[in-house]
Amino acid sequence: MKRIHKLRTMHYAPITILVLGSWFLGFGLCGCQSHQFYVNSRIMMGTIIEVTSVHKEAAGVVFGELERLENLLSKYKPESEVSQLNKKAKLKVSPETFFIVKKAKEFSTLSSGAFDITVGPLVDLWGFTDKNFTVPADEKIKNILKLIGSDKILLHNNESVIKFKFPGMKIDLGAIAKGYAVDCAVKKLKEKGINSCLINAGGQVYCLGEKFGRPWRVAIKGVLNSDFSGFVELTDKSVATSGDYEQFFIQDNKRYAHIINPKTGYPADSGVISVTVIAPDGLTADALSTAIFVLGKERGEKLAEKFKGVEVKIYAQDNL
Ligand code: AMP
Ligand code: MG
Repeated sequence: MKRIHKLRTMHYAPITILVLGSWFLGFGLCGCQSHQFYVNSRIMMGTIIEVTSVHKEAAGVVFGELERLENLLSKYKPESEVSQLNKKAKLKVSPETFFIVKKAKEFSTLSSGAFDITVGPLVDLWGFTDKNFTVPADEKIKNILKLIGSDKILLHNNESVIKFKFPGMKIDLGAIAKGYAVDCAVKKLKEKGINSCLINAGGQVYCLGEKFGRPWRVAIKGVLNSDFSGFVELTDKSVATSGDYEQFFIQDNKRYAHIINPKTGYPADSGVISVTVIAPDGLTADALSTAIFVLGKERGEKLAEKFKGVEVKIYAQDNL
């Protein structure tokens, strides 16, 4: 009999942004008169997006761009290009969708398949899409594994067409879309001449420029309720965390988390609890943190070495 003891969904990675020690929901103006900045937040992309900037118009620019990307890339929006592609198995897509899928394929190759956006049917099967969690029968997992593999996504560069090799395949950009969307927002901010802003998209962070002549200060907490925590000071860098406590359920005393090992079809079991990646761009930080979570400490660190300007903090079970 199925017994689920505890269900938990937490959309925030345990990254806290310190802005004068305060959190604002909605809109706030803080700082002393000469050092005022605006803090705006909005629920989007399944999480809380918070924008901090001295420029009043920054939040509007960021929210507008994230909304545009969400409408293209979210599997939860039936009209999005990703949903249409998942339904039709072939679609002519926008340059953004084509770009992110191409990058995701590259990350899949680089990580020897640990990162793989074709995990969509597995994420559904385990109930992480509709939050109707279940431990599937081994047989069902094995059947679905035939649909998994980024080599089964065919890209036609000239026509900007994406095609699946097999019907039933589905892509899930949950491990890369927020990072890419934040990069797009940063590009838009720069186009508008805004060069100082902090974006926190549910733990996917980008620090644009400086805050009053000093780097942005981001607090990283390794594991919820653990003693470990630390700060990083960043300028023009992104931080992302992947953790097994973000979304999980427990059934019959066993814990199942939302990051799937595409090779086995089961939740990743590499002994890692949380991975934080600092990178020059959001897409890299986002994709890499998920890939390293699947690969584990040793192989994950080797993968990170392939990237310029990347720093990794891994918390494994043996750190506790
Ligand atoms: P993140 O929080 O960035 O590590 O992304 C986790 C999300 O990415 C999950 O909730 C799934 O939607 C999706 N996902 C799960 N496993 C993988 C994987 N091995 N490769 C790529 N995406 C994944
Ligand atoms: Mg990720």
